[in-house]
Amino acid sequence: MGKREKMIPILDLTGQYNQIQAEVEKNVLEVMKSGSYILGKNVKALEQEIADYCGTSHAVGLANGTDALVLSLRALDIGPGDEVITVSFSFFATAECIGIVGAKPVFVDVNSDNYNIDIAEIEKKITPKTKAIIPVHLYGQPADMDPILEVAKKYNLYVIEDCAQAIGAKYKGKRVGSFGDIGCFSFFPTKNLGAFGDGGIVTTNSKYITDRLVALRNHGGAVRYYHQELGYNSRLDEIQAAILRVKLPYLDEWNGKRKEVASIYNELLKDVPDVVTPVELDDTECVYHQYTIQVPHRDKLHEALKDKGVMSMIYYPVPIHKQEAFEYLNCKDVCLPVTNDLNTKVLSLPIFPEITKEQQETVANAIKECLAAI
Ligand SMILES: *Cc1c(COP(=O)(O)O)cnc(C)c1O
Repeated sequence: MGKREKMIPILDLTGQYNQIQAEVEKNVLEVMKSGSYILGKNVKALEQEIADYCGTSHAVGLANGTDALVLSLRALDIGPGDEVITVSFSFFATAECIGIVGAKPVFVDVNSDNYNIDIAEIEKKITPKTKAIIPVHLYGQPADMDPILEVAKKYNLYVIEDCAQAIGAKYKGKRVGSFGDIGCFSFFPTKNLGAFGDGGIVTTNSKYITDRLVALRNHGGAVRYYHQELGYNSRLDEIQAAILRVKLPYLDEWNGKRKEVASIYNELLKDVPDVVTPVELDDTECVYHQYTIQVPHRDKLHEALKDKGVMSMIYYPVPIHKQEAFEYLNCKDVCLPVTNDLNTKVLSLPIFPEITKEQQETVANAIKECLAAI
């Protein structure tokens, strides 16, 4: 067999499309024929379905997950002069949103076991300017929400959950996105519930926040041509909503398969020296957006695997506090030892619901061979 045939991608979306092709094509065609393309009945229905799924009273569809974060901060009137606590060990958008609204991101370290915000560090970073905390459920692992909510309550802070990688994940029996004041989700195609383009949604139990978001996504006014404030053009497309409505009923099945894939990797890699496999917190249900291991000589392994046709990814190559875009904050040297250490060790392996056991065995064997040769 040639290398090409054996190549194992980090993610393959074609298998999923084959499973739902007929339903998707029917729904998309209906939208095209309807002549209603923006804020029609599919967006409205999806908002209700996502709210029901996550266990909140409201959801508001938006153009993407980044806008979900930005508009959430705007809805809470967070801006210049305010500070927002979050992590550096995440995708850039987690903190980009804070800078975009003119507030200051304040970075807290993460735990090395579940990659999420280190609770003990939060209180140390709170000042009179702190307005909110943005915990991230990274790689599909829920952050430890109870102590986060406790500290938020004590200091009167908002909590915005970055749920972009964790739709469907549960903490103490409840789905993420239902704990904080706001939950922000992304439908970027590679996420566990992905559109065929960009999309996002916000969940909340607040009617006030819902109304603010409905106005902000539509140029700052819920009624057309009347604008109470400066807003955005940030609506979820009707076609994307129609596709997502086909996919949502399959989400638990697909997330369940990801969990099976994770447990197979755990088994295959358990005796491999120097490989640290993911740890789940008690009373959480992870949805394995990524299956991320920690290894020494990570960069060498990453390259060697590529030579064997096994793709792996580094999420993310540069922590947010060291990004050029945040040079103005002068926070490059802020003390985040775990973030900096993990940054050299994490490697995400191929995971998607349709990956086969044989493919996983190939990945595991390649890791063993490469590590033995390093
Ligand atoms: C994907 C992602 C976002 C942004 O979502 P987009 O839809 O791509 O704008 C935000 N935070 C995290 C953690 C993400 O993974």
